[in-house]
Amino acid sequence: MHPLLRRLFDEHLGPGTALPPGWGAFMEAVDRALGGTLAPNGEPAAGEATFRALAETISAAVFVYRGTRYQYVNAAATTLTGYTAGELLGMDFWELVHPDDRDVVRERGMARQRGEPVPSRSEYRIVTRAGEVRWVDFTAGTVRYGGEPAALGTAFDVTERRRAVDELRRQLLTLENLSDAVIQTDAEGRVTGWNPAAARLYGYAPEEVLGRMPELWLPPGDADTLVPEILAALDREGRWSGQIEFVRRDGSRGITETTVVPVLDGRGRRTGTLGVNRDVTERRRAEAALRASEERYRALFEESRDAIYMTDARGRFRAVNQAALDLLGYTREELLGMELRALCADSSTCEILDAEIERAGFVRDHEVRLHRRDGGAVDCLLAATRRADGGDAVQGILHDITERKRAEEQLAYGAFHDPLTGLPNRALFLDRLAQATDRLRRRGGSALAVLFLDLDRFKVINDSLGHGTGDELLRALGGRLAEALRPGDTAARFGGDEFTVLLDNVGDAVTATHVAQRILDSLARPFHLSRSEVYTTASAGIALHTGGTASPEELLRGAGTALGRAKVRGRARCEVFDRAMHAEAMDRLQMEMDLRPAAERGELRLVYQPVVSLLEGGAVCGFEALLRWDHPALGCVLPEQFIPVAEETGLIVPIGEWVLGEACRQLRRWRDLFPGRRVTVGVNLSARQFSRPELVDRVREILEATGVEPGALRLEITESLLIEHTDPTAAMLARLKDVGVGLCMDDFGTGYSSLGYLHRFPLDTLKIDRSFVMRVGGEGDAEPIVRTIASLAHNLGLKVVAEGVETVEQLEELRELRCEYAQGYLFSRPLDAADAERLLVDDPRW
Ligand code: C2E
Ligand code: CA
Ligand code: CA
Repeated sequence: MHPLLRRLFDEHLGPGTALPPGWGAFMEAVDRALGGTLAPNGEPAAGEATFRALAETISAAVFVYRGTRYQYVNAAATTLTGYTAGELLGMDFWELVHPDDRDVVRERGMARQRGEPVPSRSEYRIVTRAGEVRWVDFTAGTVRYGGEPAALGTAFDVTERRRAVDELRRQLLTLENLSDAVIQTDAEGRVTGWNPAAARLYGYAPEEVLGRMPELWLPPGDADTLVPEILAALDREGRWSGQIEFVRRDGSRGITETTVVPVLDGRGRRTGTLGVNRDVTERRRAEAALRASEERYRALFEESRDAIYMTDARGRFRAVNQAALDLLGYTREELLGMELRALCADSSTCEILDAEIERAGFVRDHEVRLHRRDGGAVDCLLAATRRADGGDAVQGILHDITERKRAEEQLAYGAFHDPLTGLPNRALFLDRLAQATDRLRRRGGSALAVLFLDLDRFKVINDSLGHGTGDELLRALGGRLAEALRPGDTAARFGGDEFTVLLDNVGDAVTATHVAQRILDSLARPFHLSRSEVYTTASAGIALHTGGTASPEELLRGAGTALGRAKVRGRARCEVFDRAMHAEAMDRLQMEMDLRPAAERGELRLVYQPVVSLLEGGAVCGFEALLRWDHPALGCVLPEQFIPVAEETGLIVPIGEWVLGEACRQLRRWRDLFPGRRVTVGVNLSARQFSRPELVDRVREILEATGVEPGALRLEITESLLIEHTDPTAAMLARLKDVGVGLCMDDFGTGYSSLGYLHRFPLDTLKIDRSFVMRVGGEGDAEPIVRTIASLAHNLGLKVVAEGVETVEQLEELRELRCEYAQGYLFSRPLDAADAERLLVDDPRW
């Protein structure tokens, strides 16, 4: 508080509240001197001399009076009043009191006469002999004087002091650099003083407020309650302190811390107020903001759905909210005192966390997995800050992302796994492979291998046993594959019935082949599926990576090429990709490019392999047309080498049409030359041709164009084609049958499935595959199979052709098995047209 204010307050609080300093000591001395009594005869008693001596020495005016007549006055009293002692002793008490103040004095006197114990005290004005008005602070008590009760009063001249107070008040109201707003009002509250600070604070100039009521700067309605409250407090306690909200001239609001004291007249009557207002708007606003933020924080803390905690410097929980208890499953008592790190599933995560907080003072979005009390785990995003006030204490928030993590993991799992087998999918496999090749390139180490696996007859199984069984087989196979792996290896479903395996640290091709063979063996064991027991074999291609520059894609391509080789070499085996294979692959590409213009350039020709009738003593009854390609650089290329290329590229369609046309032209010629021999020609159709609906029209057109009797043409279709597309195939065969051509099932026995479906197709002949015929007559077990096939075919009314007959023993067996026809090197290799024709001419059996 400003020192001036303090003084002012001190001065104000004077009348009626305390005796003047030293007064009590004086009265004691008086009591002692007078012995409590005055001399009985009115003469000054022995003590009175002492009293007078005492009274003459003090600076206060001393009056002894009884009723309204002075009995004694001291020297200071004459100085104060300007009257002589003699004049005063002859005067009436009231003469001295200022007419305006006589009421005050009378009230006090009456109070004393009522015997109120406290000495009465008041400030009032006297009029001196010279007519000057002076303020005195008058205190009166009762003594015995001359044996009778009398009043003893002491008066201090307080004129100067009052002037000083007035001056102080004036200064308060005018002082420029006083920061507190000082407002003085009259008894009703009208403004009588308004200091510069008030003008600054409230925005009103003094002339704007003088004479106005506080309503001017108080919020509407506040004055009605506040003003009476303040005045009541002033009258009761002499002072009011509190906060007042005010409205500035510009309408903005503020808050003052205000102290109001009364301005009193000499009788202690309030003639006005003096208010000192300190602007605390900013402080209050800051406090309010702080309080609000504390409340918000508390609300946030308690009601947050995220777990919030604070730890002490040693990392132990010091405060946790309800969400934290829910998240972790502990009671508050259990959790407080525990350490966060004790809950961390992964201690290294916790160390990183601590280090980061140590370094940066905070962490954001740090993923942690915490153990719950019940043994479960929760994944959280953690944000933590070192508390500014708490040394190493940390405050953190845990946001539960368990659900999200789970979903993410599922998504990630789904994105990288095959839903059917649960094995990694192509994407994940390629990623693992890339990592492994990278690692090998950078750090070296033992070679890795990529295995490309393919079921040998999946399509057949799928089509014949149904997709459900197919899926079941793939699932079982995936499981078996996973079991057969060494730890660290990765098996993946690459698509369809293709599987890949990454063999890390496999060392060399021999080991890789062993591993691959072991896997193939495990897959060759029967699969007990819910509705059937299925046998299947798989082929595998292996590509080795020894730290070179081959990319994952190149490795896979290599493994794929090797797989192709394994298939060609008879399936159920594995092959290792090597340079030769690579060269072969390149050759194949070259071949494709060469094959395109081959037909136009006249490089294709047909050869004809005789088919003999076993029932008619081995007479040639027809031919099978077989394609040859006279490659300008490679010489004669066998169909095995270029037919697959032609099929892949679709070139087989135009080539196949050329074959059909060419064979029919030749057939027509032979039919014309040897009208009685009823020569037939078999033409091989590839699956690609067979799937085209136009085929029927093409066949009919060619027959018409060449004038060949339809029955002389025999179309050969491989068994696998029949099984793989049963319904469309049956329809196509029926349409071809309508045209009148013969239909032969080629390669019978190599397809997967049973013989049961044969009756569904309108076939004429059935050709037993060379692979069975080859084993007939030897040690093999082929004979019963061939016997079964032959008798089944006969039961269905089909004629049987045995192909690839090379020995007389085979011929004998086949004859015994009642095969109608045979074909093979034993009789003749495929011949060019001229040689074939010569054969027809020379055939002695005709
Ligand atoms: P395929 O239909 O099974 O034809 C019989 C194959 O067996 C012919 O091989 C023939 O030369 C061979 N062969 C005949 N007798 C014997 C024998 O006693 N011992 C041995 N080891 N082999 C014998 P080629 O001509 O190399 O034809 C191979 C395959 O190419 C054919 O098998 C057929 O599927 C396909 N092909 C041939 N020409 C054509 C064609 O014009 N169109 C289509 N789409 N495929 C054709
Ligand atoms: Ca054939
Ligand atoms: Ca064949």
